[in-house]
Amino acid sequence: MQSFSNNLFADADSDYNTADYVIFGVPFDGTTSFKAGTRDAPQAVRLASYNIETFLPFYNLEMTEIAVHDFGDMFCDCLPENVAAQVEDTVKEITGDSKIPVMLGGEHSVTIGAVRAVKPDWYVVCDAHLDLQDEYRGSDFNHDCVTARVFEVTKNIVIIGARSGCREEFEFARENFHLYTADDVKERGIKAVLDEVGKLICDAKLYLSIDADAIDCCLTPGLGTPEPFGLTPSDVRDVIRKFAKNAVGFDYVEVLPNDSGQTAMAAAHLTREFIAGSYVHRN
Ligand code: MN
Ligand code: MN
Repeated sequence: MQSFSNNLFADADSDYNTADYVIFGVPFDGTTSFKAGTRDAPQAVRLASYNIETFLPFYNLEMTEIAVHDFGDMFCDCLPENVAAQVEDTVKEITGDSKIPVMLGGEHSVTIGAVRAVKPDWYVVCDAHLDLQDEYRGSDFNHDCVTARVFEVTKNIVIIGARSGCREEFEFARENFHLYTADDVKERGIKAVLDEVGKLICDAKLYLSIDADAIDCCLTPGLGTPEPFGLTPSDVRDVIRKFAKNAVGFDYVEVLPNDSGQTAMAAAHLTREFIAGSYVHRN
């Protein structure tokens, strides 16, 4: 029998029952404020994943050793609060079966349902934006409201890479969160920042969310709300390598695959980094 390709994430060959990690796409971009199109990201990231060797030299690990299942893409409702509920249901099912959810957005609002499902001690996010609007353009589930909704679940929030938001958002974030701007990371180095955050979090459980626009848009331009002066893909990889062991859930959101594929390729690599980094600490 010959091998045939499918459109699921590369090496996500396990069936659901035996899988330790469950990938699913949420192709929703109903509240995007600048450029639309992040609904196309899950398939673009999966396509990019086939470019990557199964061997990860950093972990001396074959991805094929890890039991990963890919649900495919959710059929999303058109209202963001309903999509949050769909995601919450899905993540509860996955974590209820002692598996780790790996969600591919879609816009950042999809994170709200996942955080509500896992109720982590800590929320660690890489994002250019603070996403602290209580309500935006008629919805409190807008992708600009994510951190405000997460703050209702956990008060322990770390934001890395921020550089865009209004004065009130920055004042609130400095007062209530552990905020590391992109300038802080450039000034101190990502390793020093992560050492400091690691001492705060220790062995506590966290939810790790990567908004693709944390990375400088001059490096990965496929973004709905692009911002220059950001993190590098290596910085984000360091964040994932540091905290994958603590994470009870992971997402990669806000890729808009209208570039030459750089942004989806970084997303595919970093999603695999998460799965591998988590796996080596569980086994
Ligand atoms: Mn965001
Ligand atoms: Mn953002």
